[in-house]
Amino acid sequence: MTSVGAQLALPLLALRGLAVLPGSNVVIQVGRRRSLGAVQEALAGDGLLVVAAQRDPAVEEPLPEDLYGTGTVVLVRQVSRERGGVLTLSVEGQSRARILSYLAVEPHLRVLVEVLPERPAEGEGVEALLRTVVERYERVAKLSRRQEGEVPVPAEGRDPGRLADLVAASLPLRLEDRQALLEAVDVRERLERLARLLHREAELLELERKIQERVRRQMEKMQREYYLREQLKAIQKELGDADEQASEIEALRARVRECRMPPEVEERALKEVDRLERMPPQAAEAVVVRHYVDWLLALPWSATTEDRLDLPLAQRVLDEEHYGLEKVKERILEFLAVRKLAPAHKGPILCLVGPPGVGKTSLARSVARALGRRFVRVSLGGIRDEAEIRGHRRTYVGALPGRIIQGMRQAGTRNPVFLLDEVDKVSADFRGDPAAALLEVLDPEQNCAFSDHYLEVPFDLSQVLFITTANTTYTIPRPLLDRMELIFLGGYTEDEKVVIARRHLLPRLLAAHGLSGERLAISDGALRGIVRRYTREAGVRQLERSLAAICRKLARQVAASPTPEAERLRVSESGLERLLGPAPFRQAPAEREPQVGVSTGLGWTEYGGDVMSIEVSVMRGKGSLYLTGKLGEVMRESAQAGLSYVRSRADSLGIDPAFSEETDIHIHIPEGAVPKDGPSAGIAMVTALVSALTGKPVRPEVAMTGEVTLRGRVLPVGGVKEKVLAAHRAGIAVVVLPEDNRRDVEEVPANVRRHLRFVFVRHMDEVLGVALGHPARPAPRELAG
Ligand code: ADP
Repeated sequence: MTSVGAQLALPLLALRGLAVLPGSNVVIQVGRRRSLGAVQEALAGDGLLVVAAQRDPAVEEPLPEDLYGTGTVVLVRQVSRERGGVLTLSVEGQSRARILSYLAVEPHLRVLVEVLPERPAEGEGVEALLRTVVERYERVAKLSRRQEGEVPVPAEGRDPGRLADLVAASLPLRLEDRQALLEAVDVRERLERLARLLHREAELLELERKIQERVRRQMEKMQREYYLREQLKAIQKELGDADEQASEIEALRARVRECRMPPEVEERALKEVDRLERMPPQAAEAVVVRHYVDWLLALPWSATTEDRLDLPLAQRVLDEEHYGLEKVKERILEFLAVRKLAPAHKGPILCLVGPPGVGKTSLARSVARALGRRFVRVSLGGIRDEAEIRGHRRTYVGALPGRIIQGMRQAGTRNPVFLLDEVDKVSADFRGDPAAALLEVLDPEQNCAFSDHYLEVPFDLSQVLFITTANTTYTIPRPLLDRMELIFLGGYTEDEKVVIARRHLLPRLLAAHGLSGERLAISDGALRGIVRRYTREAGVRQLERSLAAICRKLARQVAASPTPEAERLRVSESGLERLLGPAPFRQAPAEREPQVGVSTGLGWTEYGGDVMSIEVSVMRGKGSLYLTGKLGEVMRESAQAGLSYVRSRADSLGIDPAFSEETDIHIHIPEGAVPKDGPSAGIAMVTALVSALTGKPVRPEVAMTGEVTLRGRVLPVGGVKEKVLAAHRAGIAVVVLPEDNRRDVEEVPANVRRHLRFVFVRHMDEVLGVALGHPARPAPRELAG
């Protein structure tokens, strides 16, 4: 032990990166020449030497200026020699020492040092500092398990300075910090410095612990998952699930290969199957992929039926299934003949135009049967969204292909007869233009690679025979219309309907209701009565419905009877009321009494021709004109024009010219929610108007159509054939038509013409001559059909 305050001359050992604190034991490796010399001198004496840290550990042969000015007097406790002349010293710090001067540099460093006294600390502050140090040290020790059990407990009366040195010695401090502690002769300062260092150390350890904890948890989670997945695999294997899935995938792959898809589609399908294989079977995505592959598998990529282009057979089929319609059938046969002679020729698309129930759908069905092709029907009515035609992209939830591809799946062959119903009911809105998509479907230049959004691979529609239907051509988009060959079906006469009912509708309905033909005896009179009093239509839909109602009644009667064989239902005209209830169309306009202010006009809607009553009321007022009854703009204008004509001719018509100032006129067209428009009611409105103003009744058996000008000229109108048929249905006897429509009457079936008289007119005066007053003799222009 060195005595405090003494000056000693001792050899000096330069240390790299280390400062030794009094009271601590340190092991030092010594190899440098000068260092070995210093140790030898010490060992030769009483084992004491001075150690001091190099400011820069990299310096090989440090000189006085390279060393800190404060070092430690140490006592060498143990020496052992290593290989290569290196010594390992075990030294114990004795006391702080300030270097006063260097006595020698060679052969080794020698110094004169002053042993520094401890400046003892006193007071309450020291006690508190000491506690802080101890607490922090305990915390550090706890955090770094390395020092467990080595916590020096400050014994009663133990020197605070000593304690600080011991604590500092056991900490992993940087050289500068340790050196600073060494230089802190003042114990209070030393304790403060140490407390700060301990605090920092604790923070660092805390951080380290947190990081380690996080790493550990992550590792654990990964291990846990790995473990669980392995377990799941084991369980699946036990249950045979994995095998099952694998074999299912294999089966799917085999089905794709056998499906005879085009190569690029097959490639796509196989790729999807590969994806499927990599997914857990319950994943939502797997269901979507599976659904897609199923769609690819379900489509007729290569299946076809062989065409039977046998024209006599086709004719037979069409005749068998449809009564009448001679011209229509002829056009269809011509169409098929062209296909037979020039199969590669991509002709226009057939479009059957006509009111509901005239047999458009069933004709298309017959075409399919005649050709030996499959038949599918898709209704386009009300479609506004392009996706209805082309499908939704697969990213949509619940996405499906469009109606075309759905139809192809249903057909099961790639060359069906594909009926697109109601092309006139397609409309466009912000969701894209379905008509444009339809155009692509129907265009032979494009439809060999039709693209559906869902399918993503092209589908060949070029073998499909598309047929379309429409009620009217007015609303069909122009580009579509240009692609189509129009065939018009006008509607049936009463006689035709009776035959259709007996030959076609009844046998089918009886069979559908499980009844044999002998059970029902229905007279022609009864059928005619149904047509006349229970229906008012161009086609045979209502007729079919009424007959179905009779069949139901019969079926019920048969089922309830104890001896079914004996039952036989007879239906005569007088018994209709009992079976079908009161007739909705009891009184035909022609059967009414002559009335003032009521005329019968002939109109045309997309549901066929129709008769309409036009009523005019004249009231005291101020010359206003009221129009009611769902009339379109053109019809309103035509009423105005009619009124102007009447005013300008009041004199010659025998009407008080002042009427326009003193009366209000109300024109009303009752019946039906169908909006009526067009100029063709002109002459009928004028007739009713003149009748109301003159008080002359209108002959009820006269119906009329024609546009009227301000001067009273009568201009031609459209839809004559349908209008004439409607007049005939309504029991009209005389039809007034514009002179320029004379040729159109030739299209009306002869058996209808036979029942009607036609009056062709050029001027309103002629109309009034026929329609007002006395049941006129046929005028010179009248024509007996
Ligand atoms: P549309 O498609 O024109 O609305 P449908 O083809 O559905 O009419 O015809 C309605 C019903 O009338 C069907 O049962 C059809 O077989 C029958 N039908 C229509 N016209 C005839 C006809 N000329 N001969 C035989 N049955 C017909």
